[in-house]
Amino acid sequence: MAQAIGMALQGPVRVRLAPSPTGTLHIGTARTAVFNWLFARRHGGQFLLRIEDTDRERSRQEYTDNILEGLGWLGLDWDGEPVIQSDRVDDHRDAIGRLLASGHAYRCYAKEAELSAMREHQQAESRAPRYDNRHRDLSPDQERAFQAEGREAVIRFRIDDEATIRWHDLVRGAMEWRGSDLGGDMVIARRAPADRIGDPLYNLVVVVDDADMAISHVIRGEDHIANTAKQLLLYEALRAPAPLFAHTPLILNQEGKKLSKRDGVTSISDFRAMGYTAEALANYMTLLGWSPPEGMGERFTLAEAAEVFDFERVNRAGARFDWDKLNWLNGQVLHGLDAVSLQQQLLPLWTARGWGLEGASADPDWQRQLCELLAPSLSLLADGVAQAEPFFTTPTPDAAALAQLDAAGARPALASVLAALPDGKAPLGAEQAQALLAKVVASAGVKKGVLMKSLRAALLGSLQGPDLVATWDLLHRSGDDHRRIAAALETPPA
Ligand code: GLU
Repeated sequence: MAQAIGMALQGPVRVRLAPSPTGTLHIGTARTAVFNWLFARRHGGQFLLRIEDTDRERSRQEYTDNILEGLGWLGLDWDGEPVIQSDRVDDHRDAIGRLLASGHAYRCYAKEAELSAMREHQQAESRAPRYDNRHRDLSPDQERAFQAEGREAVIRFRIDDEATIRWHDLVRGAMEWRGSDLGGDMVIARRAPADRIGDPLYNLVVVVDDADMAISHVIRGEDHIANTAKQLLLYEALRAPAPLFAHTPLILNQEGKKLSKRDGVTSISDFRAMGYTAEALANYMTLLGWSPPEGMGERFTLAEAAEVFDFERVNRAGARFDWDKLNWLNGQVLHGLDAVSLQQQLLPLWTARGWGLEGASADPDWQRQLCELLAPSLSLLADGVAQAEPFFTTPTPDAAALAQLDAAGARPALASVLAALPDGKAPLGAEQAQALLAKVVASAGVKKGVLMKSLRAALLGSLQGPDLVATWDLLHRSGDDHRRIAAALETPPA
């Protein structure tokens, strides 16, 4: 059997993401979603969702919710309502019925124990495990005998060892599989009493659903390549036009192995909780396996990528996950955000800690000014929590700050600042702050450097931090500059 190029379904682009709700939205699934979305948007097509919940034991509503929420957060909007696979089980059973009627499928009564004995035997002979098609051509009498014994049956789809399955993969080019490499006749329905059709299984269900949804292109991870070979045989047997296929490279960890749960953070909600922005993560996932055209650079929005996305620029080799690049992209996104958007993103993280709920720090203007001050040094949103902390809560001075307070001239300089500080909570302003510092340098006879470092130590409890005058202004507006300088002066010398 061969799927000749050009023989495939023609018509509008309709792609789908088919996640199984057996876990939270994984980065691999999300990257598949990105490629599907980009391809659909590039061609003015539709991006559909199908929740593959036929594994009832492992599927959970909370995972479906997590997946939909994650896709929405990433900006991967889908068309129409998600199709729920389990709602379609009658269609799946109908298709199996047709395959039984046409002789493409049959009941296999082999018991679990017989099958494991068969596999052990194959293993002992160093052969790859495969079903030996033992019940493929049972006579009606043999079938009746098994049924009279009360045996249950699975339903298997015939896979001829001599079949050659060819397709043109949009990423990998010419593909060819031999029927003999597909493990023997494939189970398409689980074990059930012989007069019934048991629960339909993945390869069958996917083909029926993709055909009914008129999917034009199946874009999914390369771990599904062997399934594609099996699925093409099913399309042929069901006389349904097959879609085109694009198998995207796997995401690899630092060691070059497939990224797995063992690598720690792999779910989109984890990345989000760590402070990555949706824009940076979507941008980064686009780069995981796709190279933008010359001149485009690596920083772009999904909409920009959708204008140029194609499979020619999808690599065949696995894509190694690069935290440095993701962090860099995230920093780029954060540095480019205006204060209003940054404040919107940081406020929930701040209020979760009880910050910014009352007093001057609850004032949106004050918060935006803080965002402007912090933005240039953020690489994660979470940095906007750590770096904002000394603005919302009184810091405990670190060792370097304590040492600075003991430096020659430090305390008299701070005492002069305190004495010269204007009262009230009106903005201090850069000019007034500079003038005040100059006055203190002149009157207290300290070096400006000593004064600046000491003031920073008193205000932030650290010698590191953002622009001092802007910091001072913010703390002045919340009345904290007085308090903190006074407290620093009361700190006993080490
Ligand atoms: N539910 C399958 C998965 O999550 C979908 C594979 C496919 O796209 O056909 O791997």
